[in-house]
Amino acid sequence: MNGKDYKIEVENLDTWFGNKHILKDITCYFEDKCVTAVMGPSGCGKSTLLRTINRLNDMIGDFRMRGKIWIEGENIYGSQADVYGLRKKVGMVFQRPNPFPMSVKDNITYGPKLHGTSDEDELEEIVEQSLKKAALWDEVKDNLGHPAPNLSGGQQQRLCIARALSVNPPVLLMDEPVSSLDPLSASKIEDLIINLKKEYTIILVTHNVQQAFRVSDRAAFLYLGELVEFDKTSRIAEAPEDERTEAFITGRIG
Ligand code: ADP
Ligand code: MG
Repeated sequence: MNGKDYKIEVENLDTWFGNKHILKDITCYFEDKCVTAVMGPSGCGKSTLLRTINRLNDMIGDFRMRGKIWIEGENIYGSQADVYGLRKKVGMVFQRPNPFPMSVKDNITYGPKLHGTSDEDELEEIVEQSLKKAALWDEVKDNLGHPAPNLSGGQQQRLCIARALSVNPPVLLMDEPVSSLDPLSASKIEDLIINLKKEYTIILVTHNVQQAFRVSDRAAFLYLGELVEFDKTSRIAEAPEDERTEAFITGRIG
């Protein structure tokens, strides 16, 4: 790997919390305009991988890593790395919707304002486009000033997706984005993810095999911190190579 072939490349990544070795020699990549699912049982390191790709573990005192991660050719842990710029390249959506305690509109304009956009017309355009991309515009366009925490759970999560898209990042990381939602809201967001991949590089963390199979083009199966299998989702679904993968997708583990 040299950082140049794929949108995101991960090479020989090891991570630790204290002396607990979490991710073990992970090498994989994430293609543009593609959904890659990272699946595996609870505790196998899925969130750690996602957070390492976004440098969100940096603040955790006993976190250590070894290896390389490139995003759009930039070594994000290199000495020249621009962590502030990384925030514009990578949007993140978490398991529990976490709207800021402010209006729908202010949730969306927060990032663009922080990154220097102050023109009111431009901000309004960003609000409309981001909410449209997140399939929420029609439901909230008449109530942009209402408090975001008053939205339903599914709407809050779509708002968080819109907020992540507001600075137009090429990469979207989603950590179990529907597991706290009802089935109807969840399926709306699955459809949305499939639609968004036309424009973005999406990594979807999920412990739900069926969801990974429905939504993703490629899949990584993590088990106890090891990357057991990494390939086209259809190949893994039809003919898993490793018995641990087979056990996971048939529901015998996880
Ligand atoms: P997953 O998302 O697959 O459920 P995680 O990446 O959250 O797994 O966790 C992987 C392992 O790392 C677990 O054993 C978990 O307890 C541990 N871990 C996660 N975050 C921390 C932390 N901040 N400090 C110490 N251990 C952690
Ligand atoms: Mg997790």
